Amino acid sequence: MSNEQPKIPQATAKRLPLYYRFLKNLHASGKQRVSSAELSEAVKVDPATIRRDFSYFGALGKKGYGYNVNYLLSFFRKTLDQDEVTEVALFGVGNLGTAFLNYNFLKNNNTKIVMAFDVDEKKVGTTVGGVPVYHLDELEGRLHEGIPVAILTVPAHVAQWITDRLVGKGIKGILNFTPARLNVPKHIRVHHIDLAVELQSLVYFLKNYPLDKGEN
Ligand code: ATP
Repeated sequence: MSNEQPKIPQATAKRLPLYYRFLKNLHASGKQRVSSAELSEAVKVDPATIRRDFSYFGALGKKGYGYNVNYLLSFFRKTLDQDEVTEVALFGVGNLGTAFLNYNFLKNNNTKIVMAFDVDEKKVGTTVGGVPVYHLDELEGRLHEGIPVAILTVPAHVAQWITDRLVGKGIKGILNFTPARLNVPKHIRVHHIDLAVELQSLVYFLKNYPLDKGEN
């Protein structure tokens, strides 16, 4: 990953893939420029935040003109390392894991799941979505430093144990879909996505904080 890019605040960096996806679609439809108001409507981020975010990218919108789509796209491509594929290993080829292997983030062409692990003998030795499934016992032998990211879709009770082994193999980032809270050394980044909690939280917000009509 490139270190030449200027430092972007984390909140801005999180919105980058959202902007990138939208601009790619705009570009594909032949649009050369876009206003912050148009962008705001599409990605549901307020225009002031978009202008501030874009100022970090060195993109200064012109009044009455908007932003240059090509410039932004090439910036995002560089920043998100779209030219460099990051290889990913997946643990747990259950319902969720299988869905990820079949999907394999092909639209996001900078990440690719290259191997999967499970303990179920019926799954080990097969390929799912073109990805080979190995036995968990092979973790230490198969995983190498070219695979810096792991996705966990295993049962919660084995998540920490697998994490400890991943840490031992020098993993840098973990996308944790299990409900387990993982303990890792400070230099390892864990992003936790608990789909059940997210869904519950959405339902709770709908019930308790209804949005005014017309509000974004
Ligand atoms: P999901 O939770 O993805 O919907 P599921 O309900 O089909 O999956 P789970 O019991 O959650 O099944 O297990 C997910 C997958 O993790 C299964 O394929 C299971 O064989 C696998 N698994 C269980 N223990 C381990 C382990 N220690 N290491 C790797 N994979 C494991």
